[in-house]
Amino acid sequence: MNILVTNDDGIASPGLWALAEALMDTGNVIVVSPDREQSGVGCAVTLHHPVRVDNVLSPLDGIKAYTVEGTPGDSVVLASTTIIKERIDLLVSGINHGSNLGNDVFVSGTVGAAFHGYFRGIPSMAISVTSLTDVRFDAASMVTRLLAQLFKDGKLPKELLLNVNVPNIPTKDLKGIRVTSLGRNSYTEIVETGSDPRRKYHWIKRTQPAWELEDGTDIFAVENQYISISPLNTDITDKHLLSILGDIELHLHV
Ligand code: MN
Repeated sequence: MNILVTNDDGIASPGLWALAEALMDTGNVIVVSPDREQSGVGCAVTLHHPVRVDNVLSPLDGIKAYTVEGTPGDSVVLASTTIIKERIDLLVSGINHGSNLGNDVFVSGTVGAAFHGYFRGIPSMAISVTSLTDVRFDAASMVTRLLAQLFKDGKLPKELLLNVNVPNIPTKDLKGIRVTSLGRNSYTEIVETGSDPRRKYHWIKRTQPAWELEDGTDIFAVENQYISISPLNTDITDKHLLSILGDIELHLHV
């Protein structure tokens, strides 16, 4: 089984190598990741300038690794079309430093890479730990191995997109694993303006989101010390609005 490992935190991120190491016994791991920090770029692809690929010396024996001078999406596109000649059986993105819960999936480069895998028919998973500092990889590695093995054993379908979030607490304090829906969180971006020697600049900062703690959601699970596994797809059509607009369709004229 060929496993593509990627991320959005860049090739130097400890989480990337923890993930590669976690999957080494399950399959043939190939690392293709952005050459630098790309958090928050979502599903972006680079269309207006060329993208370079470089071999890198892997810290793990027997694992081939490449950097892409671009986004996580670019990494998946190049890995699956150009870099890796064999079929990619599974894509795993992470281990991200920081949670990707609820609406974060629309902004996250970690999940963005998994979306690109899914778009290409590659079973894909995104793995995140809920802290930006002192990130623990033990439980995230364990659940990733578990899911990869389940997939390898044919217990999970090929049409697969999973968003996994792991609380950043000691494994002994985890209460278990919950299969969840995406919760609702709303960010209020704030902007800090300053000036450098030449001109003004603006820093867009994400604040702590307002969360709805609804049972059954990813947000609720991690808040209550459970690992959250959310199965996703790309159908974001609003069925309710579709029906309302359907009813007034006859009145819509051009
Ligand atoms: Mn990230």
